[in-house]
Amino acid sequence: MTDAIPGTVYLVGAGPGDPELLTLKAVRLLVSADVVLYDDLVPAPVLAHAERALVINVGKRCGRKNISQEQINAMMVDDARRGLSIVRLKSGDPLVFGRAGEEMDVLRAAGIPFEVVPGITAAFAAAAALCQPLTDRRTASSINISAGHHAPGSSLDPASITTPTRVVYMPGRDLSAIAAQLRGEGLLADLPCVIVSRAAQPDQQIVRTTLAQLDRIQLVPAPSILLAGETLRDSRGSSLAEMSKYVMTSVTNQPQSAEL
Ligand code: SAH
Repeated sequence: MTDAIPGTVYLVGAGPGDPELLTLKAVRLLVSADVVLYDDLVPAPVLAHAERALVINVGKRCGRKNISQEQINAMMVDDARRGLSIVRLKSGDPLVFGRAGEEMDVLRAAGIPFEVVPGITAAFAAAAALCQPLTDRRTASSINISAGHHAPGSSLDPASITTPTRVVYMPGRDLSAIAAQLRGEGLLADLPCVIVSRAAQPDQQIVRTTLAQLDRIQLVPAPSILLAGETLRDSRGSSLAEMSKYVMTSVTNQPQSAEL
C-alpha cells in the first residue's frame, strides 16, 4: 500500500457515516493526504483520520453556500498543480449523486491524475440497517436508485435524467438477450455499454462498446458486470484513471481499455 501521491486527486467515498464503514484505502489516503476537501454529511470521526492534512469543508449546505462547484474544481486543480495530494471526500459513494462526473471532467481537461475510491452508498447502508434485501428472487430483480431533488444550476441534460444508467449483474455469456431487451425498452443503438471483468482486482479488464455491438463482445473472465448509459460515453468517461490492469497501490493515468 502506498500513500497519497503528490499532484494527485483522490475522489473518495466516506460511506454513510459510521467510521468503521470506511475502506482501508480511504483511511490510508486520509492519513497521508496534504489536503482534504469534504462535503457535508461527512462526520467528524471520519475526518479525524486526516491527521496532517489541511481539512476544508466545501459542502454547500450549513451556511456555506458561497463555495461554488467552480471554486471547488479550481481548488483541486490549483493544489494538484502545486504538487499537493488531495482527497476529495464525499459521503457514501463518490459516483452516486456526488457531482464527481463534473469534477473528473475538469481534472481530465487539466491533465491531473486522479483515482476513484468507492464507498458504501446510502442505499446499501439503509438496507443493512433494516436487515432487508434490495433484491430478492421472489419479489424484486432490480434496484432503481434515483434522486428526488436536482441541485439548482445542475448541468444535467434533461435527456440523460430520463435515461437511467443500467447495471446488469450476472450478464452471462450471451449478451444478445440483454441487448434485445434494452433495445426493446427504446434505448438507442449508440448507447455506450461497458463490460467490467474482475473489477478492482489485479486482472481487471474493461471492454467498451455500444448497444448495437453488445452481442459481439468476446467472453471475458468471470465475474463480470455490464454497465450501459450516457454517463459512460467516451467523451465523459474515457478516464485518465481507467486501467486495463487495476493498480492496488497507486494511481495510473494510462487509458488502456479495449475498444470494440
Ligand atoms: N454519494 C452519496 C449520496 C449523496 S446525496 C451516497 O452514495 O450515499 C445525499 C443524500 O444521500 C441525502 O440527502 C440522503 O438522501 C442520502 N444519504 C446520505 N447518507 C445517508 C445516511 N447515512 N442515511 C440515510 N440517507 C443518507
